[in-house]
Amino acid sequence: MIERIKFLQNIALQLEPSSETRAALLEKIVRYADEFIENIYTIPAYVSTEDKGRGILDSPITENGAEIDSLIDLIQHNIDRPGLNPASGGHLGYIPGGGIYFSALGDYLAAIFNRYAGIYFAGPGAVRMEHMLLDWMSEIVGFPKTAGGNLTSGGSIANLIGIVAARDAQNLKAKDFDRSVIYLTAQVHHSVDKAIRIAGLKECILRYIPMDSNYRMDATLLERQIIADKKSGFNPFLIIASAGTTDTGSVDPLSAIAQISKQNNLWLHVDGAYGAFFVLCKDEKKILRGMEEADSLVMDPHKGLFLPYGSGAVLVRDKKKLFDSFRYQANYMQDALKAQDELSPADISPELTKHFRGLRLWLPLKLVGVAPFRAALEEKLLLARYFYDEIKKIEGFEVGPFPDLSVVTYRYVPKKGDAEKFNEMLVKEVQKDGRVFLSSTMLDGKFTLRLAVLSFRTHLDTINLTIQILKEKIHILQSH
Ligand SMILES: *Cc1c(COP(=O)(O)O)cnc(C)c1O
Repeated sequence: MIERIKFLQNIALQLEPSSETRAALLEKIVRYADEFIENIYTIPAYVSTEDKGRGILDSPITENGAEIDSLIDLIQHNIDRPGLNPASGGHLGYIPGGGIYFSALGDYLAAIFNRYAGIYFAGPGAVRMEHMLLDWMSEIVGFPKTAGGNLTSGGSIANLIGIVAARDAQNLKAKDFDRSVIYLTAQVHHSVDKAIRIAGLKECILRYIPMDSNYRMDATLLERQIIADKKSGFNPFLIIASAGTTDTGSVDPLSAIAQISKQNNLWLHVDGAYGAFFVLCKDEKKILRGMEEADSLVMDPHKGLFLPYGSGAVLVRDKKKLFDSFRYQANYMQDALKAQDELSPADISPELTKHFRGLRLWLPLKLVGVAPFRAALEEKLLLARYFYDEIKKIEGFEVGPFPDLSVVTYRYVPKKGDAEKFNEMLVKEVQKDGRVFLSSTMLDGKFTLRLAVLSFRTHLDTINLTIQILKEKIHILQSH
């Protein structure tokens, strides 16, 4: 047996590379990453390919390993080349972010040390760091000291956590579901609908409140609907508002909604996955006013703080509510439960073991401070307004409402022919070109183009280039 153990140990030791091997691997990985960053302002934002990265499948997982050079080639060709390049400043579709370098360094350390960020007993410093970051977020949005939260993988899970907390805090029982009412607008992110279903609430009544011409919830109609529902014997329990919708960047009238929510004892969940971090900009504080009165709030550092994907957050005004919904107990955890001067993330979220997400956010904030984030966010707002002004001046373009935040909606109306088809072709042409990436949506039944400015790498040049590309493509399409 000893012989067998030693034999196995010898093979298993490949899992622990020598310092020479580590240095050699690191050198190649860093060189590849550096090259990527050095070229980021010139490589395409979108590459359409026939193969769509399927080459990765031609290299199956096998008993024995391969050389790093060949693996970097595989990654380069199949992962980093085809499709959307979210690291590019030319990414102006959906909701961009970018992926700041400092976070990669934080992740590197987090992976090496592998601290256990789910349980205070195991990783007290890691848990304190997570809570310190959440306290900072609470502070910038104006939440009280009672607030607590969780660093999640993204906005979808953060929405789920908020909605589950609302369900339990409002003491909803399965027998009440089909007479309980949730208020929202047709512009809420689809992850909200998904979260409602996952939380078991699909039998609840969903009241889609009409919106004004800026795609913001009409607070007067909301109040009227709640009163009517109460009169009819329904159980209104939850309002879901948006601090920046994905489609148009619209911010619901949060102050008025918060007032209505309080008066009627509803839970107010605000989805600020896209927009909440704009609270760092002085001028935007006004439009976001009322956000600080939410019972739960979602904000995505992988959007508004430009972190790489995998970073969302949920804040709950009264952290006890989170504990009530997500606490756990298990015999094998008895040591951990004794050391409880700080709540463990596992007590207030669905996860137990989790990625140490704190470090990828803490390191950049500590290294460069908040000022560059604040500046970048204000720059994005102004770039969106600049685009709005410029595109409006070009004959043929129709614009949507003046942007609340950094999303602009617009479409081109050709003198002859079908505007729907034309815009569909226009967005396809821009995507095929690839220098920038734009996405589209349907607004009031019309095919509409969007410009979403939120990559930290998007600057004035990018916007001017986008305008130039749009003009070029329109010219080409019209000369056919
Ligand atoms: C992006 C987004 C979400 C979903 O967040 P993920 O991080 O993609 O899971 C939810 N709500 C809004 C408003 C968003 O923009």
